[in-house]
Amino acid sequence: MNNSAIEVIGYDKCTGCYGCLNSCPVESAIEFKKTDEGFYKPFLTEKCVQCGVCKKGCPVLKKVNNNLKEDLEVYSCWSKDEEIVKNSSSGGIFSELAKEYLDNDGIVFGAKWQEGEIVHCAITELEELKDLQKSKYLQSKIETSYLEVKKYLSAGKKVLFVGTPCQIAALNTILNHRNLITVDLICHGIPSYSAYEKYIRENFNYNIKDITVDFRNKDIGWENYNLTFKNKDKIIIKNNHRKDIWFRGFLTDTYLNKPCYNCKFRTLPRFADITLGDFWGVPVEVKNPAGTSVVTINSKKGKELFNKISSNLEVKKVEWEIALKGNPCLYNYKMNDSRREGFYKDFQKLSFKKLHKKHFPFPVTKISFIRRVLGYLKRKVM
Ligand SMILES: Cc1cc2nc3c(=O)[nH]c(=O)nc-3n(C[C@H](O)[C@H](O)[C@H](O)COP(=O)(O)OP(=O)(O)OC[C@H]3O[C@@H](n4cnc5c(N)ncnc54)[C@H](O)[C@@H]3O)c2cc1C
Repeated sequence: MNNSAIEVIGYDKCTGCYGCLNSCPVESAIEFKKTDEGFYKPFLTEKCVQCGVCKKGCPVLKKVNNNLKEDLEVYSCWSKDEEIVKNSSSGGIFSELAKEYLDNDGIVFGAKWQEGEIVHCAITELEELKDLQKSKYLQSKIETSYLEVKKYLSAGKKVLFVGTPCQIAALNTILNHRNLITVDLICHGIPSYSAYEKYIRENFNYNIKDITVDFRNKDIGWENYNLTFKNKDKIIIKNNHRKDIWFRGFLTDTYLNKPCYNCKFRTLPRFADITLGDFWGVPVEVKNPAGTSVVTINSKKGKELFNKISSNLEVKKVEWEIALKGNPCLYNYKMNDSRREGFYKDFQKLSFKKLHKKHFPFPVTKISFIRRVLGYLKRKVM
């Protein structure tokens, strides 16, 4: 009998959004475990009674409306607080939204580092905001966060929940409440934990649980950001995002979660009340070089909240075509999956450096070509 969500959709379509776990009525009937490819997915235990309730929490089984409305409300914006912009991936809009909730006794859910992985959690105090700031380019483990949201709402609290489009689709499948506001991210997809862990193990001699990464260090700018690898908060190494070999694998779509390549939730209208992203390709007249966010307002609730925080922001309205041009992941974009199969075939056999050279090398520029030729000639002469 195939009555559970995972048996119906299969592992290749499962995003790992934890919707099934949060809707399952039987304790410990579903466990999330890391697959060999490096993504947390659901596994049924002997406690599963095949009741099929988990299908109700699976957004992959839902029909998704997908039609671009040309009156989509899009803004280029950033926080007026320079510290917030510095400590955020793009223009710090998430922090401004979170502050509005935390200042008014609300609850904010987002993703933070915990023992070398990313987990979703709730915060209630402004001092905790730094843990949630900035994008972490790994799968965030939701665990039972959607159920926790439900508890807070039942206790009369207002909740702001930020996540990837599939996570927001899952939450909306389970819950719809006037005191819940959802924010999703324009999402490139999530890269594999296995690839990340192999890279860390082979390159850094530290316990992986003590490593955290600031994926969006802005010391030299928003567009030309660095990745800072830290061991217990001490910087080990800072790599430019264009030169880090693990990030090269992420940006070339080599080891994303399978459903991310053709994400069902990269649609318009979005599932969330508000959508946030980096405004790549932003026109200079509406740009902050320290970080510019693109924001789409997707609902009345989203509009009301955005209006409340807009006195803390520099806000410019833009045409949706401009936003879409630099941010294809906003709508219907298919990622390039041509490298994935070969990468996983060689994954156990080759070192990470060799995998990089074989499957996702840096492009050959004129300078690197000249360096290679000179190196070759030098070796020949010697
Ligand atoms: C995996 C991933 C891929 C992304 N891909 C793109 C892209 O292709 N194009 C684009 O324009 N923008 C992308 N973004 C969004 C972008 O990087 C910023 O997060 C967004 O612009 C918000 O920035 P901010 O300055 O307002 O706030 P920030 O302080 O940067 O806020 C980040 C918010 O994202 C949440 N978050 C962080 N990591 C995760 C995670 N792993 N899973 C779920 N939630 C998380 C945090 O809790 C916080 O609420 C991506 C984000 C993630 C996490």
